[in-house]
Amino acid sequence: MFRGGPISVAEYMEEVLTNPKAGFYINRDVFGAEGEFITSPEVSQMFGEMVGVWAMCLWEQMGQPNRMNLVELGPGRGTLMVDLLRWSFFFPGSAKFKSFTESLHVHLVECSPALQKLQHQNLKCMAEDSTGENVEKRTISTLAGTPVSWHAALEQVPSGIPTIIIAHEFCDALPVHQFQPTPATLFLVKRCKWAAAEEQEKLEHIEAIRKHKFINIFDNLGTADLSAYVDFSSVRHSAEEASGAEPCHLGLLNSSLLKYFKHENE
Ligand code: SAH
Repeated sequence: MFRGGPISVAEYMEEVLTNPKAGFYINRDVFGAEGEFITSPEVSQMFGEMVGVWAMCLWEQMGQPNRMNLVELGPGRGTLMVDLLRWSFFFPGSAKFKSFTESLHVHLVECSPALQKLQHQNLKCMAEDSTGENVEKRTISTLAGTPVSWHAALEQVPSGIPTIIIAHEFCDALPVHQFQPTPATLFLVKRCKWAAAEEQEKLEHIEAIRKHKFINIFDNLGTADLSAYVDFSSVRHSAEEASGAEPCHLGLLNSSLLKYFKHENE
């Protein structure tokens, strides 16, 4: 019961994670060994560097555009982007790396003011020097001289130029709906059919994690992460549908790469 009546599972997740006053992500840094959970970019800098290699290959396949949006959804501490930019900027001696870095405008989609501030710090951002009046100052990451902008939602990111979107441990934080199987809701089952058979059962699960342990999802709201199982096959289909005639490449990191990182750090 909430606000005097029942609410949906999706409303519950949204309130617990992103309520502007007390949401789990809103006021603090929740990552790392000292925090509530740890993610791959926080484990090894190689993670962001490898995503950088992937992004540069995709940029090449796009025909090396002069301007490209590099969007990250839910950047956390900003560690993945820090490692990606540092790697591409300092990689020795190739003009290609330089053109890649110079083409980038980084857009970070982040709902948490506290995490936006941390990302700004970690990316070593500064206001660009501008001469003359009426010149809008841009924020530049001094790690690679790249412009960086923040947005509360993906719809606010400017479109119309080639774009790469990175989302690491983001989709599982988005509110999900749960439906009871009645004749009226059966059409929704179609969307779940994209998930592999062994994964379909997991789609019903929402988990809560505090101090690296699974806990009850109703325990002390706003102090634990809520995470929904993501059907990436559906994400792929929706991205392809939304991009229409534009080419859309969806790279999904698979578990063997993640196991490799884990192994390297043991
Ligand atoms: N990518 C990072 C952090 C993952 S945690 C990593 O792997 O370490 C999820 C991130 O998404 C956090 O930065 C959180 O504040 C942000 N987030 C969660 N829900 C969001 C929403 N609805 N809109 C924008 N950002 C959101």
